[in-house]
Amino acid sequence: MRPDFLDWPFFEDRHRTLHRELGPFVKDTLGAIKTDGKDEDERATCARLVKALGEGGWLQHVVAPFDVRTLCLIRETLSHHHGLADFAFAMQGLGSAPISLFGSDALKERYLGDTASGKQIAAFALSEPDAGSDVGAISTSATPDQDTYVLNGTKTWISNGGLADYYVVFARSEAEATGTKGLSAFVVDKDTPGLMIVEEIEVIAPHPLAKLAFEDCRVARTQMVGEPGRGFKIAMATLDIFRSTVGAAALGFARRALDETVPRVESRQQFGQKLADFQLTQARLADMLTAIDTAALLVYRAAWTKDQGAERVTKESAMAKMYATEAAQKVVDDAVQLFGAEGVVKGSVVERLYREVRALRIYEGTTEIQKLIIARHIRQEYKNA
Ligand SMILES: Cc1cc2nc3c(=O)[nH]c(=O)nc-3n(C[C@H](O)[C@H](O)[C@H](O)COP(=O)(O)OP(=O)(O)OC[C@H]3O[C@@H](n4cnc5c(N)ncnc54)[C@H](O)[C@@H]3O)c2cc1C
Repeated sequence: MRPDFLDWPFFEDRHRTLHRELGPFVKDTLGAIKTDGKDEDERATCARLVKALGEGGWLQHVVAPFDVRTLCLIRETLSHHHGLADFAFAMQGLGSAPISLFGSDALKERYLGDTASGKQIAAFALSEPDAGSDVGAISTSATPDQDTYVLNGTKTWISNGGLADYYVVFARSEAEATGTKGLSAFVVDKDTPGLMIVEEIEVIAPHPLAKLAFEDCRVARTQMVGEPGRGFKIAMATLDIFRSTVGAAALGFARRALDETVPRVESRQQFGQKLADFQLTQARLADMLTAIDTAALLVYRAAWTKDQGAERVTKESAMAKMYATEAAQKVVDDAVQLFGAEGVVKGSVVERLYREVRALRIYEGTTEIQKLIIARHIRQEYKNA
């Protein structure tokens, strides 16, 4: 059944066509790739998913020119299927977006085609052990030396760490600068001497993560993305596009939770009647669907606004990301509750969703950081008025 939200005014016919074509690809091609980790580890599965998405032509959408509604629709559909499929798609976009948005023609030529075909896997390396929410605390240094920069420092929680072919790394290229000033972005190939994977990190749901170390890692000046000292701007412009897509991924998890729950409460009998006939159950279903639609409105409002040519949608994408990820967590929790004990059985869909949805409230800026961003905008707007 075609979801009714596709009739919303945010969408055009090309979005409806894309959605219609993506469904069978997900079911037949991605559905044939085992994502339960029993046959191979999550890195190998992820590599297979990237390859399939590339061969299917879906990764063409992760490079500029971006259509954020398309990115959101694809993420929502993939996460409805499986979190790792969404991850494989999203990271190709997040990892390469700095190059799409700010890279030289040579960098675009060298990396974007292979990223869009799935031949190269991308990663985005911003966070450090002492610089999570506080990006201005980045201490990885990039010291200029003739026609190179020498990188030293540690990056952590890096998605696709150990799997990626290249990393867009944010480092301080102006030693005297502090906070968010003096940061620059560099594309570092995986086999560059001095780049090491020091730890693979396992989290509660499949998501290849690693800690990286840079020890006198020398990269050519031509590997710098954009202008020197503009790294913070590059990172934020990238997140401006991708934050609403995190909301879309959350939406996919939430819709899947509801899709699993309705048949369950319509069939499960207690006290001589279906669970769905109890008004407490009906109230919960109403809350779940209302939260899903509210999240979708915020996500596609942010995406549509960007697609209309807005230079920045920082407030809109922060609202979309914050609300959709928090709402999805609650919807998934409601689903687990309505399944009773079946909901916590390892390997059941709602149990998987419960683990998959959690990290979305943390990465690409926690809920608390989104609140600070939104509040900053409110205060500024009232000041300007
Ligand atoms: C699954 C996963 C994938 C990730 N992938 C990547 C990646 O590919 N690349 C990358 O660079 N990073 C990645 N990250 C890192 C992620 O961006 C950080 O975890 C996130 O920014 C939060 O930083 P932190 O974990 O250091 O938490 P902290 O910054 O230490 O925050 C801890 C808590 O304090 C709160 N807090 C912090 N500051 C404030 C404040 N000013 N006011 C109120 N509360 C505050 C936070 O909201 C949070 O609840 C990933 C993380 C996860 C979990």
